[in-house]
Amino acid sequence: LAPEYYLPLRLLGTQFHAGMAGKAAAADIFRLLRLSGSQAAGGSAPLPRQQQIALAFRDVYAEYQPGGRQALRGISFSLDAGQHLAIVGPSGAGKSTVAALLLNFITPAAGDIVVNGKLLQGLSSDDWLRQVAFVPQRPHLFQGSVADNIRLAQPDAALAEIIRAAKAAGAHDFIERLPAGYDTLIGEGGQGLSGGECQRLAIARALLQDAPLVILDEAARGLDVHSQAVLDKALARLLAGRTAIIIAHRLSTVRQADKVIVLADGQISETGTHAELLARPGLYWQLVGASKGGYDV
Ligand code: ATP
Repeated sequence: LAPEYYLPLRLLGTQFHAGMAGKAAAADIFRLLRLSGSQAAGGSAPLPRQQQIALAFRDVYAEYQPGGRQALRGISFSLDAGQHLAIVGPSGAGKSTVAALLLNFITPAAGDIVVNGKLLQGLSSDDWLRQVAFVPQRPHLFQGSVADNIRLAQPDAALAEIIRAAKAAGAHDFIERLPAGYDTLIGEGGQGLSGGECQRLAIARALLQDAPLVILDEAARGLDVHSQAVLDKALARLLAGRTAIIIAHRLSTVRQADKVIVLADGQISETGTHAELLARPGLYWQLVGASKGGYDV
């Protein structure tokens, strides 16, 4: 691996406590760590690559420090292969913690996460993380070429594959307009690119990884209508046929999900489909009602 692949690791300490963006970046970096050969906690049972993924949480508890405040308490849900779960809820409810568990950033304090009938903790962490594509709200882009930034999860990918992923992510056109196309050097954190462009690069990266499980931390706002439409198309391509867990901030996303979980203070307060949840006057009804249909939570 080129030295720039190691560069983000230095940021781990500073970004870890820097709120949502930091958490997302840290989890991203953590994946990098694993992919670059480090061994962290985790079992050794191999998991065949590119298998469809069915997933279950069984009475899962999570905390960031042993004996510390519980970020999740007694979470249970199951997802069949190819199903999409939307997680909604107020800030601090524990939405990102579900992602943190699946990215092996933390392990359950109690309860089980089951992947295709096997305990997640028993699986080889490297094998598992290769099957999970994480698209954070603010993707971590490192100093390097556009091509290298897309190639992150598949370091040996040929340029043709990178271009194919970029096209599917709606990123090819803006990349072609950059001064040196795919060879254009971008700054740390995607300097010189718009938020929407950074997100599309992250989607291209995830498409190239071709993982059967996608974890998407949806960005709530900040895009104009056209950029949002391009992004939505790219996301639809990424999610099609894959199992997905989406930390959802937009009503359209929640509507399309097979299941919705409403988290409040670390617990599931309601679960169902969008239509089922709207039919009862609970937290979801309040969240959606308060947004007057816009739903930006
Ligand atoms: P938001 O929408 O604001 O991102 P969230 O629903 O994703 O919120 P989490 O980030 O999962 O909520 O946080 C759940 C709880 O865990 C909160 O009390 C939060 O302070 C705590 N927490 C989250 N990340 C960490 C961390 N890295 N270290 C310690 N505590 C954390």
